[in-house]
Amino acid sequence: MSYDPRKKPRHLILVLGDQLNSDSSAFDGFNAADDAVWMAEIPEESIYVWSHKARITLFLSAMRHFRDALRRKGMTVHYSQLDGPENRETFSLALKAAIASLNPQRLILAEPGEWRVKQALVEAAKTKGLPIEMRSDRHFFSTGQTFSEYAGERKQLRMEFFYRKMRRKTGILMDGDGPLGGKWNYDAENRQPFGKEGPGRVSPPRSFRPDKTTREVKKLVEKRFSGHPGSLAHFDWPVTPRQASQALSDFVENRLPAFGLYQDAMWAGSPYLFHSRLSSSLNLKLIDPRKVLAAAERAHEEGRAPLNAAEGFVRQILGWREYVRGIYWHFMPEYGDLNRLDAQAPLPRFYWTGETDMLCLRETIGQTLSYGYAHHIQRLMVTGLFALLLGVKPQEVHKWYLAVYVDAVEWVELPNTLGMSQFADGGIMASKPYVATGKYIQRMSNYCTACPYDPSQAVSKAACPFTTLYWDFLMRHQTFLRKNPRMGLQFRNLDRLSRERQQAIRAQAKGLQEKMS
Ligand code: FAD
Ligand code: SF4
Repeated sequence: MSYDPRKKPRHLILVLGDQLNSDSSAFDGFNAADDAVWMAEIPEESIYVWSHKARITLFLSAMRHFRDALRRKGMTVHYSQLDGPENRETFSLALKAAIASLNPQRLILAEPGEWRVKQALVEAAKTKGLPIEMRSDRHFFSTGQTFSEYAGERKQLRMEFFYRKMRRKTGILMDGDGPLGGKWNYDAENRQPFGKEGPGRVSPPRSFRPDKTTREVKKLVEKRFSGHPGSLAHFDWPVTPRQASQALSDFVENRLPAFGLYQDAMWAGSPYLFHSRLSSSLNLKLIDPRKVLAAAERAHEEGRAPLNAAEGFVRQILGWREYVRGIYWHFMPEYGDLNRLDAQAPLPRFYWTGETDMLCLRETIGQTLSYGYAHHIQRLMVTGLFALLLGVKPQEVHKWYLAVYVDAVEWVELPNTLGMSQFADGGIMASKPYVATGKYIQRMSNYCTACPYDPSQAVSKAACPFTTLYWDFLMRHQTFLRKNPRMGLQFRNLDRLSRERQQAIRAQAKGLQEKMS
């Protein structure tokens, strides 16, 4: 028997834009005759940070595909389209309107991925006097409780120990009680540059041509968000579970084997290299991380991928992805306001245009605006590093990262930006700030070869701004950072610079900071 839409639903199942998995706990006990689903395209979600057009398109297209798939299964879905007459600006208004018109007995959803959204939904339900049941999100391997237990046991949190705990818990890449191959971590084998000849021919990731639904959304986004950053010209992201699975198979077969060695390498004009491009599918829950890790583990077992590649990839998903989620929920809402280094500079305008003569930034930002994508080291050691060295306010940096990447959802973006990249949490997430001169970028990419600046110079017209700002950063923050035992070598090198040289660097850095403010 199917649900009569005029009838008051027993349970109204709320599905948010990053909860597009039909095996979600929210659907446990779902009865098509009594229950209904509610989904809404919320204008505020596209504008509360100045979202890239590809990010908005991906969310809306994937949501509409999911709605259609649920309806094909016989479920009643009350869906509010951005361009529909009943659309409301915010989650709170939209949910209150839905409660008023549908009059359900109970609201059910899987835990939202964002603190702000969770508060808005709880508040809306409370105002309407309706019970709201938030169920644990079993997409993830760990729960908030797993993380809090781990965090409660130690003074200092480190991803590596959490990761080992997760390997033991899941049995992934384990040999009895120990790690497969005898080592937990092959990080040291994950940092090779390409050398002068570059990456050679890399099989391009599988591309998904926009279907009718995606084309309609693209049109809507171009019209409604015409002033937003980014382009839709190259939009080819997976928008359904089937496409996400195809993207996984393509990655495992064609790029996983070299993923390990070249995880940190960068090359102009090659945005994806050996990376998986799976983050947006994972974060929207189009694909289960268990399936992703099983595919990588199987590839290793069958001799199709070396252990350094399989382990390097597993570490990102079972380690980092779970760890940052734990950090987010353990420390929110205070976490979002942290600014331990008291950085106050504005974000340079070129972050929104890519118009700068610094080639590494022009490449990374240009690619970000074209595709909504940059790989981890581009985010951490190019755009993130520059903002950190310049002293940009971390909350501004956070808004940029949340806006410009197709995979950006706050629970993963915020700890990566505020903690790992900007050290705004003072060391909760990372044991020391990720800082380096332009020489790091020179070693890991070919960007510097065509750049007007020289990474080995800190004071001159041709000095690389990264190098100048690196030394200035150490001088600015030495009272706090000299206490950090992991930064001893960096400060010993600083101490080797003469007083005159230090003064010249400070003057050059001041000029850069003024130019960019
Ligand atoms: P791969 O390189 O192929 O890695 C495989 C998977 O591992 C990714 O799909 C992702 O799910 C996971 N992963 C890798 N690194 C991390 C990490 N540090 N934290 C969590 N998961 C990780 N990732 C997001 O998914 N959303 C974000 O909004 C986001 N913001 C970031 C902001 C900054 C400042 C930094 C430094 C990193 C950020 N990351 C974010 C992590 C990482 O950069 C992306 O997950 C990765 O680049 C996505 O590309 P990929 O799918 O090709 O990844
Ligand atoms: Fe970037 Fe400096 Fe290299 Fe230029 S020289 S590409 S600014 S690191």
